[in-house]
Amino acid sequence: MNEIAPWKERKKARAGQRAHKRRTTLKRKVIAHYGGKCEWCYTTDVAVLCIDHIENDGADHRRELGFNGASTYAWLKKNRYPQGFQVLCANCNFIKEMEHRKEALGIKHFESEADKKVALEKYTNGQNCCQGCGEKNIEVLTFIPSDEIKATLDENAKKKIIDWIKANNYPEGFQVLCMNCNLKRYTIE
Ligand SMILES: [Zn+2]
Ligand SMILES: [Zn+2]
Repeated sequence: MNEIAPWKERKKARAGQRAHKRRTTLKRKVIAHYGGKCEWCYTTDVAVLCIDHIENDGADHRRELGFNGASTYAWLKKNRYPQGFQVLCANCNFIKEMEHRKEALGIKHFESEADKKVALEKYTNGQNCCQGCGEKNIEVLTFIPSDEIKATLDENAKKKIIDWIKANNYPEGFQVLCMNCNLKRYTIE
């Protein structure tokens, strides 16, 4: 048996909270420096905001510097907030990214628009919008499985969730959320 003493658990939890607070403070500072709101839709909810590389070279840039999302903020601060970056919310960032990828691949849609509309209709009782905030842009809406369903999905099913939903005849246990509301399930700030 290798049990961790309760006080150690508490100590670990407090250290985690402090680290989280530091990251949040840094994020807020960097976001504020770049205008504090989404450049496209003007939302100011920090929980859904991120820093976007205006020229779509985010992936290259990260590879070059070898950092993940969280340390982007540290890097920007250390480099005195260079130009070429802007604030976007998760929804607008996703739209931008998709437009960019579609343009590069010369395609109009990644997923079947018709299938997505049918699934949307069914899971939202015809409201056809995000069940968290009411966002209506179909492009940013996703189908979130319950934990029970999620546990049964393989990687391929997760990637093509609309195909899976259709093939399984629209089972219970999905909610429709936009990228912003989906992100907010994990971020508390
Ligand atoms: Zn936005
Ligand atoms: Zn939403």
